[in-house]
Amino acid sequence: MKNTKKDIRVLSRKEIQDFFLSHNIPSFKGNQVYQWLWKKGVHDFDLMTNLSLEHRILLNTYFEINHINIDFQQRSTDGTIKNAVKLHDQFIVESVLIPTSKRTTACVSSQVGCSLDCVFCATAALKRMRNLNADEIYDQVVAMDKQSKLYFKRSLSNIVFMGMGEPLLNYKNVLLAIDKITDPDGLAMSPRRITLSTSGIPKMIKKMADDKVKFDLAVSLHSARQEVREKIMPFANKFPLNDLSKSLAYWYQYTKKQITFEYVIWEGVNDKKEDIQALIKFCHQIPSKVNLIQYNPIDNSLMKEASEEIIESYLKALTQSKIKVTYRRSRGEDIAAACGQLANKL
Ligand code: SAH
Repeated sequence: MKNTKKDIRVLSRKEIQDFFLSHNIPSFKGNQVYQWLWKKGVHDFDLMTNLSLEHRILLNTYFEINHINIDFQQRSTDGTIKNAVKLHDQFIVESVLIPTSKRTTACVSSQVGCSLDCVFCATAALKRMRNLNADEIYDQVVAMDKQSKLYFKRSLSNIVFMGMGEPLLNYKNVLLAIDKITDPDGLAMSPRRITLSTSGIPKMIKKMADDKVKFDLAVSLHSARQEVREKIMPFANKFPLNDLSKSLAYWYQYTKKQITFEYVIWEGVNDKKEDIQALIKFCHQIPSKVNLIQYNPIDNSLMKEASEEIIESYLKALTQSKIKVTYRRSRGEDIAAACGQLANKL
């Protein structure tokens, strides 16, 4: 028999209250259920002890509570934990918990696979299967907050949307999840500790500014030359750098938040003087900083990270041009948990 029950976790607080009202039950019961679901993270109506048996039966008749399960966990020698997260329909995404001396950062996925075609990214090879629901995104954060407390004796300090998928192509659910993460009846985390990383979709960057979001923005730039960027991020032919820079100026105008550009330097791709000059020019248009990231090679790829010397020349040129820049070493490489390596290799 086909399961016709609805996942209660896709309903808003108001919708749950309305459900109770439509059964002639006071709406505050809906509030209690909402808190059980989101504040206490309960996955069984029968554990909601302030509901009567009658109300629990009613909920069980109409609803189910879908949730993720951590299927598999790998720990890197540097402390990074990679989780294979099984969804209710058996798809698997990955979430990574990254500890440093001061912080623990959760890197979460927003889609199963990805529809973009960045040639250097392992997730691109998986294609996009479906978007994650808000609760599936939220659950990853809750699971990693528990792990952070268990292994590192502290709560999560930061969240980055840098796992599988393009968050701006699942905008509604990503924003709903962030609402729950920041809600006092959810995890009550500050939005300033959240960073959304996008491959750069101008229309959606403007939309975020219009929606007055409070989190930080990172853009995977990798090249400030249109012809080079199109070679490594082919979808960029639809989103020219000109439009991207206009949307970022708009973002800054309305949020006053500086943008972080993520940038990998590859041999023979973006390792020339003109690449550096183009990046400097691009950065000068908008208050921004640059995160040079280490390249994590993926299967069958001929791409190779540029030499230390070239990386140094980028660092020097950017610094001389008064652009803030860091070079970030990857974490969790030995378990394929580093940026761009997330492709269900368990
Ligand atoms: N789709 C989003 C978020 C996921 S990718 C985005 O594009 O930003 C997270 C980051 O990892 C991005 O900056 C991406 O460019 C980078 N990345 C992808 N593959 C990589 C690889 N093989 N080595 C290093 N960084 C990589």
